[in-house]
Amino acid sequence: PRFTVADIRKTFLDFFAARGHAVVESSPLVPGNDPTLMFTNSGMVQFKDVFLGTDKRPYVRAASVQACLRAGGKHNDLENVGYTARHHTFFEMLGNWSFGDYFKRESLKWAYELLTEVYRLPPERLWATVYIEDDEAYDIWTKEIGLPPERVVRIGDNKGARYASDNFWMMADTGPCGPCSEIFYDHGPEVAGGPPGSPDEDGDRYIEIWNNVFMQFDMQPDGSLRPLPAPCVDTGMGLERLAAILQHVHSNYEIDLFDALIRAAARETGTTDLANPSLRVIADHLRATAFLVSDGVIPSNEGRGYVQRRIVRRGIRHGYKLGRKTPFFHKLVPQLVELMGAAYPRLKAEEARIVEVLRAEEERFFETLENGMEILDAALQGGATTLPGDVAFKLHDTYGFPLDLTQDVCRERGVVVDEAGFNAAMERQKAAGRAAGKFRMDRALEYTGAGHPFTGYELLEEPARVVAIYRDG
Ligand code: ATP
Ligand code: MG
Ligand code: MG
Ligand code: MG
Repeated sequence: PRFTVADIRKTFLDFFAARGHAVVESSPLVPGNDPTLMFTNSGMVQFKDVFLGTDKRPYVRAASVQACLRAGGKHNDLENVGYTARHHTFFEMLGNWSFGDYFKRESLKWAYELLTEVYRLPPERLWATVYIEDDEAYDIWTKEIGLPPERVVRIGDNKGARYASDNFWMMADTGPCGPCSEIFYDHGPEVAGGPPGSPDEDGDRYIEIWNNVFMQFDMQPDGSLRPLPAPCVDTGMGLERLAAILQHVHSNYEIDLFDALIRAAARETGTTDLANPSLRVIADHLRATAFLVSDGVIPSNEGRGYVQRRIVRRGIRHGYKLGRKTPFFHKLVPQLVELMGAAYPRLKAEEARIVEVLRAEEERFFETLENGMEILDAALQGGATTLPGDVAFKLHDTYGFPLDLTQDVCRERGVVVDEAGFNAAMERQKAAGRAAGKFRMDRALEYTGAGHPFTGYELLEEPARVVAIYRDG
């Protein structure tokens, strides 16, 4: 039988509900009152205070399907989209939790049981990693579950940054953390990449599907580890990665849900090659930006709003690359709502507003996109390998090209952006702004006696400008 994403979600929640877990709703992408985190990047975020012991819930076991965004902060996958088969900015995480209740044994055994007996993954394709010092988890895998030792790999905390793997999970630079054990699936020799812990592990052959974190500490700002009131379990499995396996494809972007989005993007951009990476980027960025709007984030020049703007504009630029010269991105929203509205009612309820917000941002950006691209193309003529910082800054300042968008274009052409030069140009403009502000402030003081009271000034970070505020008086 072929599992759709809807079947996979339901099967997961039913499995853990039958084992005493409360099924909890997905929380918003903007975490409530947590300055350490820009976006909800995993299922545990809404339980952070439960781990820390400052919040209590009427249950000690929970399960959810959580909407996640990794486009800023400690976990950032924006630069992977379009390049790997397994990373999105927005994705759904299947998770189960124990708050001081069960620990490693139940967590790993249930994970294995669900994967092999319910989803029926072939056991010989599964690998596991454990934290280098975690003999207990190692023994559970090898002696109790029976995974052959050659497929259980011990991995450190990646402090030496030798490989990408990291078996000490942290939500952010501070907060709940602990050693973890991850389950990998081998897509087979037709896909490039090595097993976890090997030098070429960063391919799409051996894919990490499920992380079981044994939460034990609260990382302090000074890097010290304070024990949690009780050991907890926090797991997360990527829905799209599991769906790819269950639907017998090698890429997240080929699953039922993405296939429909990519076809819609192909239609709107007049693209015939469905394997074009720009279509994958558009489909990914559409999900991220639509969900962000539904959770109240609109494009702006600072903070979360600026991340939202960067993602929308990158998506639009990929449409432009495919030949679109006019707004198209917002037209994909109804298709997304059709696919995901049942699982996420807020998305459906906010559909009209999402279309409006994205359309407005597209209209704004299409006014400068073409001219900006001409400047960029001209600067890259003749085989330059570095884009000068002042060109990148001009694109940013006058044409609304966020730096990472310019870098995205340059990367496709094997060019790097002189980031130091970009920052220097930004600093020069800020200094000029400050000087202008001082001049205006002096004038404001003159005016004070002339019936125009000066009521203060405000520093606007983005774009860098000092604005004196006058009030008619
Ligand atoms: P990877 O090493 O592949 O980047 P991760 O170790 O950063 O994944 P975790 O923080 O352990 O991921 O998150 C738990 C699970 O969420 C992963 O095992 C994976 O299945 C899924 N996941 C993580 N990042 C993404 C992403 N960008 N897109 C889709 N699924 C993801
Ligand atoms: Mg990652
Ligand atoms: Mg990983
Ligand atoms: Mg992981």
